[in-house]
Amino acid sequence: MVYKGMALSPGIAIGRVYPLKRAAHKVHRRSVLPNEVKREISRFRKAVDDTRKEMISVEDKVKKALSSKKSSIFEGYRLFLEDKMLINETETLIKDQRVNAEFAFSMQLNKIIMEFKKIKNDYLKERARDVSELGRRVMSHLMDMDDKVLWGDIPPDSVLVAYNITPSDTAHMKSNNIRAFVTDTGGKTSHTAIVARALEIPAVTGLRDFSVIAEAGQDIIVDGENGIVITDPDEETVINYKRERKRYQDEQHSLQKLMDLPAVSTDGVTFGIEANIEIAEEIATALAYGAEGIGLYRSEYMFINSETLPGEEEQYAQYKTVCEKMLPYPVTIRTIDLGADKLSDAVKLPPEQNPMMGLRSIRLCFKIPEIFKTQIRALLRASAAGNLKIMIPMITNVSEIKKVKMIISEAKRELEKEGAPFNARVEVGAMIEVPAAAVAADLIAEEADFLSIGTNDLIQYTFAADRMNENVDYVYEQGNPSLMRLIKFVIDSAHQKQKSVALCGEMASDPAFTKILMGLGLDTFSMSAIAIPKIKKIIRTTSAREAKDFADKFIAGSCSQ
Ligand code: PEP
Ligand code: MG
Repeated sequence: MVYKGMALSPGIAIGRVYPLKRAAHKVHRRSVLPNEVKREISRFRKAVDDTRKEMISVEDKVKKALSSKKSSIFEGYRLFLEDKMLINETETLIKDQRVNAEFAFSMQLNKIIMEFKKIKNDYLKERARDVSELGRRVMSHLMDMDDKVLWGDIPPDSVLVAYNITPSDTAHMKSNNIRAFVTDTGGKTSHTAIVARALEIPAVTGLRDFSVIAEAGQDIIVDGENGIVITDPDEETVINYKRERKRYQDEQHSLQKLMDLPAVSTDGVTFGIEANIEIAEEIATALAYGAEGIGLYRSEYMFINSETLPGEEEQYAQYKTVCEKMLPYPVTIRTIDLGADKLSDAVKLPPEQNPMMGLRSIRLCFKIPEIFKTQIRALLRASAAGNLKIMIPMITNVSEIKKVKMIISEAKRELEKEGAPFNARVEVGAMIEVPAAAVAADLIAEEADFLSIGTNDLIQYTFAADRMNENVDYVYEQGNPSLMRLIKFVIDSAHQKQKSVALCGEMASDPAFTKILMGLGLDTFSMSAIAIPKIKKIIRTTSAREAKDFADKFIAGSCSQ
């Protein structure tokens, strides 16, 4: 079977399907008052109902694509959701024992699974797995949560297949035998995709119900460049893809020859080429691909991958190492950009209707000043060890950057008193990723030492299109004149104030936009390290003057990208 999805991260992997395993939900017994019994029962009914609806919609889609044999498993699922032994007994337990719905359901579920396991029939034993999978889905609805991946004992050459995965799941893949991953949903500039590219893990998304259809151990090919997934490939296809994999690797190899050459246009204009990193270990890759600095260090990954808050010393040590390793090049460390899709067990956030527009990023830092101040102190101290710049994400207005500068001044005074060294002239930049900030770029450039355009978010907020939702991918238009006009305004405004402008969204690593960004006068491209050679190649074969003519015409609407 050949499936066409959305290419998330390039490269080719040939391996076997490994369906995502989730950690079991931690269920606690909680006594409920007599007047709460009704509420617990209706919570339980709603969770069962939501699961039923979910299964019906999957079944409908799968039926269209599959033989009736395979889709008949859904009938079993549905019957199970109507099973009296499960539904009525759970409700009875809630009523009689006055316990919470989660606890009652898990007791009853385990009882049924044990019954199945006792049966000496392989087919029925196998059904125990279906029951527990379905139970997990009901429990997720009941607990209103996404559960975590279970790592360990994953066979070599595995291709992880899942409905969806988080950026931190992706960060664990390389060390767990995962060669590639395939998900039902996700967007090209989602953080999961960004981490996959940074770690060179081929990935394809947007495959709808693939995680339901794919079978554990099934042979699979993932073509992350073309967004193609093939299951049970014949011998000839495998041979062709092995050849294609070799071609891809050779191409990467030949591009690497460019790594030490400067990014200068044919008419002599030099552009900055920097790398985006998520974890300190990526420095070696960034340097290997020819980065002349780190344009975006997503410091929040230190928080995402930790269950406790990293303290000042831990952060200081990490930032100092990165700066020292990159010397004499600059390292732009972004203060934590948590919230929305980047969550940390160490920072508890209130549930929100619209997390993407809610308490995320610098807004969250203002809300929990202790965490922000600790990071600022660690950054300032590390600034004594190298060429460190501080960058603030999600700035919406001038007062926010002023407020950040006040907090930084306060931290400087503290460190001065303590006799701790720091660079008193450390640069503080603003990310431009909210349309309001783009439109006020002239005002923000007066306060900030540099600007960096975060197109991943700037696009989603400008076009009102969620960057993680592949259904609205067609509106999430990178090459749209409205976006280019915004970018032009940001660059021109900063230049008028003698401030430099970088672009650190995924657009910087897309060869389709290199020429127009050169033409708009961008100073620095900051991208996934693997993209550096191909972007350098374009810059070195393009004239900046011609690029400017092209950008002017494009902005005016008289030519297309
Ligand atoms: C961006 O929004 O373009 C950006 C670089 O930040 P992130 O992708 O981490 O949100
Ligand atoms: Mg962003």
